Amino acid sequence: RSCFSRKMPGKSVEEQVIGANVDIVTVVTDAGPEHNPRRMVRYFTLIARSGAKPVVLLNKSDLFPDEQNEAGAAELKALAPTADIHVTSALTGHGLEVLNSYLKDGVTMCIVGSSGVGKSTLVNQLYGEEWQWTSEVNDVTGKGRHTTTARELVPLPEGGMLIDNPGMREIQMWTDEQTLRESFADVEEMTHDCRFGDCKHGNDAGCAVRAAVAAGTLDVLRLGSFL
Ligand code: GDP
Ligand code: ZN
Repeated sequence: RSCFSRKMPGKSVEEQVIGANVDIVTVVTDAGPEHNPRRMVRYFTLIARSGAKPVVLLNKSDLFPDEQNEAGAAELKALAPTADIHVTSALTGHGLEVLNSYLKDGVTMCIVGSSGVGKSTLVNQLYGEEWQWTSEVNDVTGKGRHTTTARELVPLPEGGMLIDNPGMREIQMWTDEQTLRESFADVEEMTHDCRFGDCKHGNDAGCAVRAAVAAGTLDVLRLGSFL
């Protein structure tokens, strides 16, 4: 039904499937040092291609002021209007009840995000007891990278299943041109108004896309991702 995949780490152009029949991909991040809209756009593009629903947890909310958490959530919502964005603290349990609304019987969720964002803490909260979370892939040897033993399906006591995943440090684009175009349909539309058909949207004269950035109708980060 769905296929969540990424480009293999390194220079290879092979596709690596992370999960099949995944209903929801939850990206764990935070509103502090982890906050990175450009990386989130890459996640959103991968998720859009998979057919799964995107959910974002701005975790570690206990460490940052409410305004910072809310501003981070608003910024991500603007990048991906179809995504559900929630502010959580896996440590205190704050906001985690929202996950119960997703994790019904027959629903499979994949949890991704950089190392240290709180994925295992979150799973332990959901599982209700210590779950032996798979350890990080060894970055030096790359051992474990291409094996499936590093991934597990965790049935939750209250229903739903989680796919445990090694830290996806190296998120790379694995997407077809069609999905890319759909993700940037608004920008694509603007390019029709560029003066030259081969406009690079850099210093080109009469560039409608840069004009939109100047006018404040297109976010400069989004233009960067599009380029
Ligand atoms: P993972 O690498 O994504 O699985 O991250 P971990 O679950 O191992 O968490 C990394 C560290 O962050 C641990 O020391 C956790 O206790 C801590 N941590 C996780 N979630 C939270 C949170 O919501 N708030 C705070 N303050 N610390 C957290
Ligand atoms: Zn242009």
